[in-house]
Amino acid sequence: MTKNIGLQIKAPKNECSDMHCPFHGNLPVRGKLFDGKVSSAKAKQTVTLEKENPVYISKFRRYARGKSMIHAHLPACIITKEGDHVLAAECRPISKSVFFVVVEVRK
Ligand SMILES: [Zn+2]
Repeated sequence: MTKNIGLQIKAPKNECSDMHCPFHGNLPVRGKLFDGKVSSAKAKQTVTLEKENPVYISKFRRYARGKSMIHAHLPACIITKEGDHVLAAECRPISKSVFFVVVEVRK
C-alpha cells in the first residue's frame, strides 16, 4: 500500500520493501524541499543532487555562480539516472550526510 506523504506529487507506480521509503516504509518527511539535478548516481541507494543558486554581489552588480549539493536517499521504487530533475524532501537523518529522500522524478 502506498502512503500519502502530504505533498502534492505523484506516488511511484511500483512497490518496494525499502525501510527508508516515504511511500512504503517507515520514513516520515517534513521540512524543506530540494529541487535539483542528479549529478551522481554511483552510490548504492544514494544520489547526489545539485542546484544552482546565483549569488548577487552588489559591488559588481553581477551574479556569481553558486551551487549547493546534497546527498539524498533513493528508495528502491524510484529509478533515476544522472542528469534527471528530481524533487527531494527533508526527513530524519539516514546517515551522516543523508537527510533528504527523493520523492519524485520530474520530466
Ligand atoms: Zn517505495
